[in-house]
Amino acid sequence: MNLANWLHQTGLVRPDASALRSGTRLHATYAQFALRSWAIGAWLEGQHGICKGDRVAIFARNCPEYLEVLYAVLWVGGAVVPINHKLHPLEAGWIITNAEAKLVLTETGGIFKAGDLPDHCREIAIGGADMARAVAAPSEAYRPPVPVAEGDLAWLFYTSGTTGRPKGVILTHRNLRMMATTYALDVDAVLPQDHSLYAAPMSHGAGLYNFQFVRAGACHVIPESRGFDPAEIRALGEKLGDLVFFAAPTMVKRLVSHALQAGYGGEGIRTIIYGGGPMYAADLDEALRVLGPKFAQIYGQGESPMTITAMSRTLVAADDHPNAASRRASVGIAQSCVEVRVVDAQMQEVATGEVGEVVVKGDTVMAGYWRNPEATAAAIVEGWLKTGDLGRLDADGFLTLTDRSKDVIISGGTNIYPREVEEALLTHPQVFEASVIGHPHPEWGEEVVAFIVLTGEGLATAELDDWCKTQIASFKKPRRYVFVPELPKNSYGKVLKTSLREQLAEGRPAGAGEG
Ligand code: ATP
Repeated sequence: MNLANWLHQTGLVRPDASALRSGTRLHATYAQFALRSWAIGAWLEGQHGICKGDRVAIFARNCPEYLEVLYAVLWVGGAVVPINHKLHPLEAGWIITNAEAKLVLTETGGIFKAGDLPDHCREIAIGGADMARAVAAPSEAYRPPVPVAEGDLAWLFYTSGTTGRPKGVILTHRNLRMMATTYALDVDAVLPQDHSLYAAPMSHGAGLYNFQFVRAGACHVIPESRGFDPAEIRALGEKLGDLVFFAAPTMVKRLVSHALQAGYGGEGIRTIIYGGGPMYAADLDEALRVLGPKFAQIYGQGESPMTITAMSRTLVAADDHPNAASRRASVGIAQSCVEVRVVDAQMQEVATGEVGEVVVKGDTVMAGYWRNPEATAAAIVEGWLKTGDLGRLDADGFLTLTDRSKDVIISGGTNIYPREVEEALLTHPQVFEASVIGHPHPEWGEEVVAFIVLTGEGLATAELDDWCKTQIASFKKPRRYVFVPELPKNSYGKVLKTSLREQLAEGRPAGAGEG
């Protein structure tokens, strides 16, 4: 079953429903959305030879046409390779070459210079004159999407590369269908009146969150800013209502800051799904207080997209349970399409409450890494995907992540989880953001270093030291504080700890010293 069938069918059963909006402006109804995707697909096939199994890269910012071309590629049985638009064309070229994509769809059709792309690959403008002609005068009669096998490649998702060169994650039609179905069971209801907003780049997980909304005939809203602008989100919420969107924790934090300044209480927002990185307890409490009980959480990774554990809105907001605080600090319970375990180095389950590596098995786990059997064999062991995340399960099945295994600091032979130190630092009212890493130390192996962004006024390290003493064991306390104006982040708002380590190694942390 081709995923594009969901669009084909919604185009038939809810033809007049609003499908795509640019801001508040209607771009297409479902009948138009389906017709355009089919017509573009027919053109890609007829003019550019794209057929079943071919890869087509999309290197663009969010726009309504992004979803049209995405479905066009699926319609003819091809697979999409969404590339983060913030990458340098040479980095994008590396992905295109690795994926052996036949075409790359870009915003203007002139991004790549001669030699940037492999010989077999052409660049085409999304919505350019040729594509527009194909939509206005299709060369054939309307036909449903090409049948595919459920194990066929649908989406070749390149990891963001925070742990090395990006790897292509093979996501099949079945993986994505299960991901979309599970969402409605474990994360939040999907309603026809929803406005699914794309505040995060579609090239990442946010783009994957379109399928369930297409199936339900809900409207997709692409902000005119084409990115994350809290003031625009507030205005869209107030005008359209029923906004549902994914936001990384840093985006939630920005929205909360804006709401506090503007006296906004989250009107028009139905659900904000957070995930993609740690949400600190202090930040979540503040977000719930300011915007209301409209938060759901997902924990996943490219290799099991958005689908390891989840915490529904009800669970996030519940405060009448004795374990409410620890549950809220967790990433929730296993999603219904997967099994989640915490294991030791021999893949044996550890006791309840003990820390080990999180592994996951189920219908949403990738088929493997693209043309990389070694990496696949290292990642999927005995059918279980090794996430590289450390965590512990409580007796009720709530999973708390302690950290990524590569980020754990070993100082004097003791494990220190940076997240715990970050949580402690963030409770200080003058600390806006904190990121903690290990730095080589001749005596202890590693020492704890904290990068701090302050809310405003200066702060003495001695004061932070005293604060930490009231929060965490003294061996976990940072030995150095580095005050910086901002933390390096990827386009998804995730802190790039590799870059912090490099800065320290090169002795060039910007703004180092006392705040
Ligand atoms: P790469 O795989 O190239 O290193 P990455 O680490 O950014 O890139 P992603 O798939 O983008 O990979 O992110 C997945 C990781 O993000 C998870 O393994 C986990 O560490 C973290 N993460 C995702 N959701 C949550 C969440 N809800 N809470 C805490 N951490 C999360």
